[in-house]
Amino acid sequence: MSEYSYDIVVLGAGPGGYECAIRCAQYGKKVALVEARELGGTCLNRGCIPTKALLHGAEMFEAAKSAADCGVTLGEVGFDFSKLAEYKDGVVNKLRTGIAGLEKAHGVKVIKGFGKVVDAHTLSVENDGNTESITFDKLIINMDSYELIVDGKKIDTPPKEIELLFFLASNPNRVFTRSQLLDEVWGFDYFGDTRTIDVHVKRLREKLENVSDQWELATVWGVGYKFKLNTPQGAAADSAK
Ligand SMILES: Cc1cc2nc3c(=O)[nH]c(=O)nc-3n(C[C@H](O)[C@H](O)[C@H](O)COP(=O)(O)OP(=O)(O)OC[C@H]3O[C@@H](n4cnc5c(N)ncnc54)[C@H](O)[C@@H]3O)c2cc1C
Repeated sequence: MSEYSYDIVVLGAGPGGYECAIRCAQYGKKVALVEARELGGTCLNRGCIPTKALLHGAEMFEAAKSAADCGVTLGEVGFDFSKLAEYKDGVVNKLRTGIAGLEKAHGVKVIKGFGKVVDAHTLSVENDGNTESITFDKLIINMDSYELIVDGKKIDTPPKEIELLFFLASNPNRVFTRSQLLDEVWGFDYFGDTRTIDVHVKRLREKLENVSDQWELATVWGVGYKFKLNTPQGAAADSAK
């Protein structure tokens, strides 16, 4: 009987972490998987999967517009972004549930909370103001890898700005206050202060200005921020105001 609560604790449930936890369990280890936000990490919740779901919608729209060229007759072709966002959320939720099922089937204990290493064999996990301590023989840290390419150019951008950009791009032409952004983008307050949003927005704006004129991140004085995409839909929404 081990002196620790777990043989292995995996910190971070992105594609690296959740697969790793399953593999360790398959080797007969007692495993816990600690995740501050959602199972699936960046890839499933804010990266690969949601972007591909949105792209799929955009491709369908493009195909429908030119369907007549191939003799396919459709009615008027429209585009409803909120419906596409609903589709994207459906795909993400289904896969997230699938991961939870896989972890359970392999006996991996999923623990929700923000992990902090206390010492060589202890992790404190904080969730909603409650803190629990778990002990481990081995800790595997799997907490991020990020890269952002806009219009073919790589932007050297930290994870928090990528998440901010992706969130804003999913909600074009909506005005956000600083605290709404903190709450909706990062779920809980990583920084403890809404002023950090200003810093991220400033850096993001400078970087976007250097690579593309399709995006515009505007400060709405006294309120917060608005992100504009120069697409036909974005222009239509603007002229309707
Ligand atoms: C917009 C976008 C599109 C992308 N598209 C693609 C693509 O098409 N193809 C591709 O291969 N890659 C893509 N990527 C990259 C891909 O998302 C990452 O390579 C992948 O998510 C990395 O997996 P990971 O497990 O290393 O980390 P992550 O997925 O980042 O997971 C790390 C997890 O650790 C958690 N965490 C961090 N600190 C703590 C802590 N202290 N306590 C508890 N939990 C913590 C985080 O909440 C997160 O869930 C994209 C990324 C973005 C942003």
